[in-house]
Amino acid sequence: MAAAIDEGVGKVRRPELLNKIDVEVGINDALLLTSEDGILTALDDRTLRVWLRRQTGKYWPSVCHTLESSPTALYYYEPSRRLFCGCDSGLVHEFIVADDFNKITLECTYFGHQIRIQAVYFSYRHELLLTACREKKLNCYSTNPIDENRQNARGSYTLASMGMSITMDETFRQCFIGDSTGNIHFLKLNANNRFEPNKPLSGHTGSVQNLLWDPDTKWLYSGSFDTAVIVWDLAAPQGVAVELNGHSDRLVGISYDNLRKLLLTCSADGHIGVWPMNVKRNETTIWLENDSCQICRMPFFWNIREMWTQKQIGLRQHHCRKCGRAVCDKCAQTRKALPLLGYETVQRICDDCIKTLRNDETVPLASFYDLRQGTIKMDYRQGKKVMMSIGTDRTIKMNFRRENIEFFGKDNVILRGWLYCPSSSSSSSSSQSAIVMTHGFSGLKEMGLDEFARTFCCDGNFYVLVYDHQTFGSSDGQPRHDINPYSQIDDYSYAMNYLENRLNNKNISIGIWGTSYSGGHVFVVGKREKRRIKCIVSQVPTISGKNNLARRPQWQKILAEDQHCLYENREYIPIVNQANENMDLSNSFYHFFVDKYNCNEWINHMTRRSIHLYSQYEPWKSLIDLSPIPLLMIVAKQDTITSTEDQIDAYEKQVLEPKRLVLVDGGHFSVYPNEQSFEIVVKEALDWFIKYLK
Ligand SMILES: [Zn+2]
Ligand SMILES: [Zn+2]
Repeated sequence: MAAAIDEGVGKVRRPELLNKIDVEVGINDALLLTSEDGILTALDDRTLRVWLRRQTGKYWPSVCHTLESSPTALYYYEPSRRLFCGCDSGLVHEFIVADDFNKITLECTYFGHQIRIQAVYFSYRHELLLTACREKKLNCYSTNPIDENRQNARGSYTLASMGMSITMDETFRQCFIGDSTGNIHFLKLNANNRFEPNKPLSGHTGSVQNLLWDPDTKWLYSGSFDTAVIVWDLAAPQGVAVELNGHSDRLVGISYDNLRKLLLTCSADGHIGVWPMNVKRNETTIWLENDSCQICRMPFFWNIREMWTQKQIGLRQHHCRKCGRAVCDKCAQTRKALPLLGYETVQRICDDCIKTLRNDETVPLASFYDLRQGTIKMDYRQGKKVMMSIGTDRTIKMNFRRENIEFFGKDNVILRGWLYCPSSSSSSSSSQSAIVMTHGFSGLKEMGLDEFARTFCCDGNFYVLVYDHQTFGSSDGQPRHDINPYSQIDDYSYAMNYLENRLNNKNISIGIWGTSYSGGHVFVVGKREKRRIKCIVSQVPTISGKNNLARRPQWQKILAEDQHCLYENREYIPIVNQANENMDLSNSFYHFFVDKYNCNEWINHMTRRSIHLYSQYEPWKSLIDLSPIPLLMIVAKQDTITSTEDQIDAYEKQVLEPKRLVLVDGGHFSVYPNEQSFEIVVKEALDWFIKYLK
């Protein structure tokens, strides 16, 4: 039985770092791009830079544009590539970003502010630009290129204090401006782009750094230096404001994922909160004021008259977070989280309320992650499921919610990998489902499996376990780089044991995924584990070691040399051999392992016996016994490594229903991220898992 070595339960988890940019100058603002693996930065050295992720995995600037003063606030409208950039001088520039991100062209400069721009907002629908600067001025410009004089403000409004954040309800042309004292100004823009002020929304006691409008729910989210997030439901007849309390430092970023209905919040101490918003929370209770405890009637310390009458020392006043009554310390000893009232951390509850408190009222709804670093801003792109944070150490980090885990595999070897947890916390144990994934022949999890796993986790709401095979990458096992299909097959079962223990659920629905060599393993695992496995996805699978070997003269030669010591020979040979007679094979191998994933931990060698084990491995023989487990087989049309013909032949002759065959363009390696057929295969696999695991 596998045991979980690091349970990780109850801890504030650390999100997995995907990438990091050392900018080395002060970062005023930054945004993630959606269409490209890239970032826009506004830096303190007067430059505006576009960073793109290169083949090496590192980010390098493709644009470095120097301005008259440092850029301070950015807004990027991706569909028409319009970039608005407010500066320290008070100027606001509009740039057009070139298709290839290698150039930005100045389109217009907007005047009217004399001092540092704090926030910019662009509405494509109304062709207008809103800007707020340090001198408490809010301006509105037309951005329509046909408008003469568009560089001068149409409307202007002076706030009582500095505007820090801007958003807009574009349907009703209502602007929201968070200020440095905690107010949210609420202004209507009339047809002439003039501001008509309404009563501000008050609730925060610290600077409102972040505002976000969700047009679907008509909810306004505000994040403040007072550590709270307020959800303003402006569509409700009386207006409802729910406070979200869970951070203990100033809010520096909020973002909303409307596909998964999640609010992401970030505080200056680097804590990330993930709040499901499809739960009904109640408005935070208003605190009542009284001169004596509303339970035991003991006077509070300012109630001199009652203290004298009762001959009592005055007590401090506290408030029950559930009923809001004023109570003394003795009458409110219990501390509980009240997530349905927005309190994710433990709060004071009075003795009366504790008697009627239901268990479900204290179950946490939000989850928290710790970046373990001072943070000044956060941005999130739901399509990419990637979060970017700007650290106080002048770095930009890209993070994803993924845990490092380890568990015992066959022969007590420690296997290491990643566990991706779905975002919805409401799923009951009967509906939990998980996917176990490993890479193919010598592949490491860093070589493209993250993109698959993220899609399965985020779009399918599955737990996903990805790990390195024994003797490879982060997993233990000796001799290193020994490719043994039989222990790799057994380890799938150990991984499933780990999941069952970790999630404390013996009835979890499990799907398995394999590619290339492990695409063959999943046939064998499926046959053995019929009780536990609910469906299988196999892409470009190994069908027959014997047939494949016939296409690899280099390996035949090695086998011939080793005839007398087949199993014992632990010498190493290269996996990718450029001197291979079959250039087509070696070129695509070489590109995948060496050029594309220039992964430090991947080493171009394996034990000689790996080839012997390969030559005798015939996973197709398990296919006939797989039914009724549904099998999706993905085959590349020009696969010369595991052979398109062998795969189709095995699928047609050996696999019983339910089954599905998907043929995609390209060769053996076309099914990995950034290759021609990746988008198709990941979608097909996701649909298969959703169909049979849910
Ligand atoms: Zn009391
Ligand atoms: Zn109470």
